[in-house]
Amino acid sequence: MAAATNPDSDKVIPLRPARACPLCRKPSLRAAYPFCSKRCADIDLGRWFSGAYAIPAAEEEPSDEGEQP
Ligand SMILES: [Zn+2]
Repeated sequence: MAAATNPDSDKVIPLRPARACPLCRKPSLRAAYPFCSKRCADIDLGRWFSGAYAIPAAEEEPSDEGEQP
């Protein structure tokens, strides 16, 4: 196994396409993955905290079902 550490991470091109920011659909930033910026990550985190206590778990149908053997 080769543990490859890349000091020149700036030159590394990701093989996978950049994930779009869930909030504004901009290309995500590595530092704020999967968001495009710390700002969006912060916004989402805020929504999460405020929404976790307010929104009932019935917004969307969970895809948990169907995983039974
Ligand atoms: Zn964003």
